[in-house]
Amino acid sequence: MTNLYSTTTCARLPLGKVAAITPFPARPNLVGMTRSELETQLLAIGTPEHMLHLRVKQLWRWIYVRGCRDFLAMDDMARSYRQKLATSLSIHVPSLTKMQISAGGTRKYLFRVGDGHEIETVYIPETDRGTLCISSQVGCTLNCSFCYTGTQALVRNLHSWEIVGQLMAVRDDLDEWQANPGAPKREQRLVSNIVFMGMGEPLYNFENVRKAAKILMDGEGISLSRRRITISTAGVVPRIKRAGAEIGCRLAISFHATTDELRNRLVPINRKWNIAMLLRALRDYPSLSNADRIIFEYVMLKDVNDSDEDARRLVSFLHDIPAKVNLIPFNSWPGCDYKRSSAERISRFADIIYQSGYSAPIRTPRGEEILAACGQLKSSTLRQQRERLSSSRDTTCPDAPIHIAN
Ligand code: SAH
Repeated sequence: MTNLYSTTTCARLPLGKVAAITPFPARPNLVGMTRSELETQLLAIGTPEHMLHLRVKQLWRWIYVRGCRDFLAMDDMARSYRQKLATSLSIHVPSLTKMQISAGGTRKYLFRVGDGHEIETVYIPETDRGTLCISSQVGCTLNCSFCYTGTQALVRNLHSWEIVGQLMAVRDDLDEWQANPGAPKREQRLVSNIVFMGMGEPLYNFENVRKAAKILMDGEGISLSRRRITISTAGVVPRIKRAGAEIGCRLAISFHATTDELRNRLVPINRKWNIAMLLRALRDYPSLSNADRIIFEYVMLKDVNDSDEDARRLVSFLHDIPAKVNLIPFNSWPGCDYKRSSAERISRFADIIYQSGYSAPIRTPRGEEILAACGQLKSSTLRQQRERLSSSRDTTCPDAPIHIAN
């Protein structure tokens, strides 16, 4: 058993506390809207047409550069106009209900979204970058057999505010907003990279993911480069080309198997779009270049997909695709039948790929003691809630640190 809570405090929620549930305002939320949707909202509250461009610019800065949620504090607009904004519109992000911090500093958040459902977001700090792994759906339809989220049914797609709002809420927690316009910018961003590798299949929620990605990349706001945003897909082939053309960020593919027979079992979407169809779509990915290599994610499952032959077959698929392979040591979860390949096996597998001229980094498992893989915090919370409800002698105190077995 490991005590998951470090002594660091969270800016918004004392560690171990479960937040009280306050409903989100019913007024239209400006977070996640495109500039033209924002203009429509401002027109509706009587903003003169000739002022729209300026107002949107001001609001964009307040919301996405300074992290402001209070219209009344926006002191470059007349007080009466601020009051009108405050009574008609809102600025809100998902609310933090639970957070765990691993010994290595990985932060796992459970956020409550619009209708009370919960989603996960994970922040992974490293020396040269800080990566935020965000969710695109509540649950998932894919049923990948080794994935914990696969054990949770799909509830719904996330709205764009709930996607962008994950980053905004994490910036609150990390205290990473530019509070004053004149203040020097940090040399290095705390959240420098975003990966859509949390719960859900981003290409099954295309419109909202595209909208959110555009906001994340907007140069007058959060301003992340498209090279620092990665969409990971299990292989929704017809949407891959569109993602390249309409979003243009980096692409990762959850590949995981080198025969259709095995991939059908591990990643069942393969029954719809098999390996040959997937590879064809990747060759056509619009922004293909060496700088934008497609990441082939490959989870290492002991005696399932980790043989030398698998490694060689994988390499044979890559010859005309600018690609790199990311080997992911399997992150185990309670009740699953798979095991992680040994360190020696993973390293031998990586060597074969590397010797064929491809980069094949092995992803360092992070935050294992907080079940940092897809869907795991949510599931453990649901389980705890169920156990709490079913136990008549339950003495669990919501304020107490929670211990989860490794
Ligand atoms: N649906 C998308 C994104 C979510 S999963 C996709 O399939 O790409 C993000 C990555 O984590 C995927 O590569 C997924 O296969 C992998 N993954 C899921 N569960 C895992 C686990 N228990 N251990 C290691 N990797 C896992």
